[in-house]
Amino acid sequence: MILARAIKLVDTHVSFLYTVFMDAPLQEPRTLQEAIVYFSDADRCFAYAVKLRWPDGHVVCPRCSTAKHSFIKTRRIWFCYTCKKQFTVKVKTIMEDSPISLDKWMIAFWMLANCKNGISSYELASTIKVTQTTAWFVLQRIREVMKGKGFGKSTKIGGEGNELESDETFIGGIAKNMHKGRRLKADGLGPYKNKTIVQGILDRNLRKVRATVVPNVARETLQDEILRNVKFGSTIYTDSAVAYDSGLQRRFVHDVVNKTEAYVRGKVHTNGMENFWSLLKRSLKGTYVAVEPFHLSRYVNEQVFRYNHRKEGDRKLTNAERLAVLMSQVAGHRLTYSDLTGKSDSPHHAETGTGETVEPF
Ligand SMILES: [Zn+2]
Repeated sequence: MILARAIKLVDTHVSFLYTVFMDAPLQEPRTLQEAIVYFSDADRCFAYAVKLRWPDGHVVCPRCSTAKHSFIKTRRIWFCYTCKKQFTVKVKTIMEDSPISLDKWMIAFWMLANCKNGISSYELASTIKVTQTTAWFVLQRIREVMKGKGFGKSTKIGGEGNELESDETFIGGIAKNMHKGRRLKADGLGPYKNKTIVQGILDRNLRKVRATVVPNVARETLQDEILRNVKFGSTIYTDSAVAYDSGLQRRFVHDVVNKTEAYVRGKVHTNGMENFWSLLKRSLKGTYVAVEPFHLSRYVNEQVFRYNHRKEGDRKLTNAERLAVLMSQVAGHRLTYSDLTGKSDSPHHAETGTGETVEPF
């Protein structure tokens, strides 16, 4: 009775609404099984998503940023008095215009944030009971969000006294499994003709990785990425690739490990990046049947996200905390169908271009 009155009171005070929901007896989920149970309750799922989107409990209209609104509890939507429109927790996020219910989205976010070896669209499809194609689009949207602060952003890693590793890896390229059009195109392009190249930079002190798909291993390409991402004065270790010769010394302390002689010479090694590559390749091989070069960057984003958010200092993040980090990146993103499928001209991969493969997997 007291509770009923309390809820009624709270109905008129939107800001208190979430406190009531968040006092729900069920503990914050720790495992996927617990997350599925937790998010299956529509009110609880909604409250959780609201908390992650507006962590201070101060809900603002995503369109006009004002806080003059009323909450229509039965429909879990707000009406904004300023722009005279309704909004949901999904508006102005990658979930906008998606018919997939919030609980399914939350489970997809959970799985991608926390499954160390990644998840396939088949796994997600069977978990949240949607078609494989739908699951694929859900996953691609989330991967785009996982990019966060990555390559090409204004912040840099490294700095005086920080030790970094820069390394490249080659992914894909089993000709018999390739799309015929791609195979024909790829013929005669040298030793890396069927491969997609990924460059990665690890800051050992920050324990953060940045990785991106690059078009080639030319000196300018690799050094450009370092210049864009690493603060001057950092110490950078690379392997003996001639691509790194000269240039680097002027702005960084640069040392090279010659892989043909010895992998480790004191601190001069790229073992940290090797470790990251093996995680990336495990998730690609173990889970994903094939990844088109155009899409590969998203899988790289995904692995970078999990790698960079496995710990805070020496403490391991919980699954719920990792989900919260991911959700904090969700607002402000929208993706069009052509963004997702690469059906427009590809800015990413000159060799294979895009639009050759419509079927995701
Ligand atoms: Zn508004």
